[in-house]
Amino acid sequence: MTKSPYWRDFIRREDVETAVRALVDAQDFGREFESSLISDLILERHYFCRMHGLRPTVFKLTHEDRPYRFYGFFAEHGWHPVSWTKCLKPPPSKQLIIVAALRNRIEPEKLAFRKSHPICARCGQAASEETHHAAPTFDEITRQVFATVTAADIDTALADWDWFDQKVFAVPEGHVIQQCFDAIHSSARLEALCKSCHNQTKRRPKAIKTGAVASEQGSVS
Ligand SMILES: [Zn+2]
Repeated sequence: MTKSPYWRDFIRREDVETAVRALVDAQDFGREFESSLISDLILERHYFCRMHGLRPTVFKLTHEDRPYRFYGFFAEHGWHPVSWTKCLKPPPSKQLIIVAALRNRIEPEKLAFRKSHPICARCGQAASEETHHAAPTFDEITRQVFATVTAADIDTALADWDWFDQKVFAVPEGHVIQQCFDAIHSSARLEALCKSCHNQTKRRPKAIKTGAVASEQGSVS
């Protein structure tokens, strides 16, 4: 049985990675180079570039990060760091990008809640380390949000995001998606839990997996 390719003619994700890494590893720091393979990979799979049809044409490595920082040259924008490794996995949907932003936005509130509830609400013994959405769960809240808003709302939420200027996406202030989320979230019951009790809450199927985007936005480009 033949397996359908992971991307282009590459059978497995590792095959894409090996091909790109061989190209990149052959470059000297600071020297500009072209690669239609990397240009296409970023155009088709980078979470921002694919939305806007952006295809960097020239690349270079700098010493700003270890083992290097990878830059692409974008027409009208110039040089900008861009991660080719993030383009190895399938790009996140628009919904997932928005969910990650909604999650980021409530981080300060979750931190404040945990600090004001230092002992785990379930075992009553260990120190609290996580703030958990007990009811409705975070996934239930976001499911409700996307059941309420329209595809056009999703597009307008993302329309003004300029990755060149502001790498981590945030839903615009006052946008209907943020309002809808806030309305449901404001009545959610939170719990501060220890790691062990929090892990037990995760033993259920998730309709929307958000971890990938959340961690992706935590690092460079
Ligand atoms: Zn506990």
